[in-house]
Amino acid sequence: MPEEKAASARASMAGPAQLDFPPIRNGVDYLLSAVDHLGSDRTDPRGIKYAVLHLHAAAEVLLKTRLVREHWSLVFDDPGQATERAFRSGDFKSCTLAQAVARLRNIAGITITAKEDDALGDLGRDRNALQHYGLTHNAHAVEARAGRVLDFLVRFLDDVLLPGLELDEVNAIGADMVRVRDGLIGVRAFITQRLRRLRGELQGREERTIHCPHCDQLAMVAEGETNRCLFCGAVVTTAEMMVYMYLGTPEDEGSLIGICPRCTQHTLVYDVHLATGERVTFCFSCPGPISTAADAPPADASGERR
Ligand SMILES: [Zn+2]
Ligand SMILES: [Zn+2]
Repeated sequence: MPEEKAASARASMAGPAQLDFPPIRNGVDYLLSAVDHLGSDRTDPRGIKYAVLHLHAAAEVLLKTRLVREHWSLVFDDPGQATERAFRSGDFKSCTLAQAVARLRNIAGITITAKEDDALGDLGRDRNALQHYGLTHNAHAVEARAGRVLDFLVRFLDDVLLPGLELDEVNAIGADMVRVRDGLIGVRAFITQRLRRLRGELQGREERTIHCPHCDQLAMVAEGETNRCLFCGAVVTTAEMMVYMYLGTPEDEGSLIGICPRCTQHTLVYDVHLATGERVTFCFSCPGPISTAADAPPADASGERR
């Protein structure tokens, strides 16, 4: 019915106070571009760069769209200084992605998990690094991290944004959403395939294989002084690893650190998720799980410390 379509188009252009800005379609468009870049030639750093930049833009648009539904002043850096005129002209300092997450949780009551928040934080850091220095991290790590944000944004669209839309708006982005979902399946498949290829290399080392803090894959092999991720190639010293563990990795594991009864180093981490599927107490210096009873410290352990 073309007449009906034209009428609804007019209504949305000239209609009264349609404050659904910025539009979801714009966010989905960025998402689509990110997916296309992620799916393109994986050895091309430009593809990864634009995937990250556009994924970040998509996150800003989509999260802020939900904030505007709550109240338009919430997308201002300082909502206390917000004016409707500034909002309509778009001439104002907007809140950061981190502020948007906090307001969605605290004011709009939207659930965003710690993992999802971490993924957005990582993406922000990747974006800043790419803008200032180009691709300094391993492309596989950046891609794996981007995949986590893509996962979150599709979830956010499905759970939070799409249910509030009119049917014609849902239809307007329908074709793009199909492509975004296909892209997401492709990115997941890429990660699964790569992990499958690594299975042979990891075999026999499962008891020393933990989550990589860079790409969040269960593919980092502890080697004593250093830890090497077979998925993304990151090499992290055990000293750096302790900082990650202390702050909490994306898997939220091992926030408690103690002294190893086997080697007496301060590199014992509790509740570490191993590639074997177990959660164990793990020492990074004499890499492997510790069974506290069997590995009780010798009486003069403290005197042997280096
Ligand atoms: Zn990694
Ligand atoms: Zn040890």
